[in-house]
Amino acid sequence: MDLTPHATRFPSCGGCQKPCSTTHEYCERTVRDLPILGRAVRLSVLLRRVGCRDCGKRMEAVSWLDR
Ligand SMILES: [Zn+2]
Repeated sequence: MDLTPHATRFPSCGGCQKPCSTTHEYCERTVRDLPILGRAVRLSVLLRRVGCRDCGKRMEAVSWLDR
């Protein structure tokens, strides 16, 4: 399962949640999610590293992703 960020939406800073306009690089993360119907689900997520004016370089905030 592949998830890619919405191109029309600015990423938000993982530190202060403010939208950032600068994307430094893309970074793929594999996330193990809860088993669904007895099968473990692995999500492949493309995260962006953003440049925040306040926090510097941060991973983007992903609201549905737990740490
Ligand atoms: Zn920030």
